[in-house]
Amino acid sequence: MSEQSQARPRPAVPSRTKRFVGRRVADVHGRRSDVALLEPVPGIQQLMTWLTPSFYIDLGRPCNSACLYCAVPPHEDAQGFTPLGRVPEMIEAGRAVGCDRSILIGGEPTIYPHLNEVLNQLRRAGLERDHIIMTNGLRLAKANVAKELFEAGVDTFHISVDTSDPAIYDRLSRSTGRHAMQGKGLEAALATGANVYIYTAVTAVNAPGLPALAEWIAARAETVGREMPPWILAVIKPIGDGEKYADQLLMRPDQAVSSVRAGLGRADQLGITAGFRNIQACLAPDLVNRNIDYYLDDFSVDVQTGLRVIYSHTEYWSKPSDACGQCAHQQLCTGIYRQMALRYGEQWWSPIEARGLRKDL
Ligand code: SF4
Repeated sequence: MSEQSQARPRPAVPSRTKRFVGRRVADVHGRRSDVALLEPVPGIQQLMTWLTPSFYIDLGRPCNSACLYCAVPPHEDAQGFTPLGRVPEMIEAGRAVGCDRSILIGGEPTIYPHLNEVLNQLRRAGLERDHIIMTNGLRLAKANVAKELFEAGVDTFHISVDTSDPAIYDRLSRSTGRHAMQGKGLEAALATGANVYIYTAVTAVNAPGLPALAEWIAARAETVGREMPPWILAVIKPIGDGEKYADQLLMRPDQAVSSVRAGLGRADQLGITAGFRNIQACLAPDLVNRNIDYYLDDFSVDVQTGLRVIYSHTEYWSKPSDACGQCAHQQLCTGIYRQMALRYGEQWWSPIEARGLRKDL
């Protein structure tokens, strides 16, 4: 596979044959009443008050970008946008498990044609504010889009930003010349006064630039006169196009750790609260209080019954018994993406003591 920019792939399924089926479950980020860490990071705890307890409203896979690592690539979408009539059952399921806010996700939720009506439905269901939107930020660059979302009940913007380098942006997004638009969208979100945090998918392509990205984020916040937005460095999931382009994207576990460590180090210098996902405690025991998953209680809810069920992402993870069976972090750790273990071998992961964890929990 070429390492040059690729064009956006053509849709594999023509629009006229798309048929919405939907998922049986909605995912939930529950709020942990007791984080089991000895020294939780206050900035990450504050981020959790923005994000939880929440349920996902999946608006479908269509997207105005085409990220090379996408776990749900829009060009393979066979269902189209979620029909508006299917949203109320997701709202009821989320409410049934005690959530007081939604996370609007796609694809790209800002291009969903009925986004305002979804926010109206939430309001009518008694969930007026505190919603989160997970966006690539491109549409927020249009006048008033961020402001209107904030006014309609979106209090937190999750903006996916992977790089400060326009050429890397083009390569990862399979598009041309839109990096500046993303920066403008981020600044527009910051200017609303809403909560904003940055989510970076860490791949072999953008990993060397993480310290520079921390500087870019700080510069955007300074331009608008806002406090530094928190930053989550998520080592990519080897799912969807993330698996298809694994040769370009994935990093050996130790390389992923050093890249994330470099990003966290620069963030610390700049006063940015930063955490990560998809690096297990045994790979970096000293960083365990930066692991976002330790602050969340993730599970799923059956959309038909409103009953809590096992977290849907569990199907992608494994906990090799030789390592995880003996590990003091087993209850809190998500485990390892199966494709990572297959590609690099299980020897990278080994049991550790309860370092960094409270003894009373
Ligand atoms: S449970 Fe397994 S993957 Fe997680 S920290 Fe322990 S040994 Fe590592």
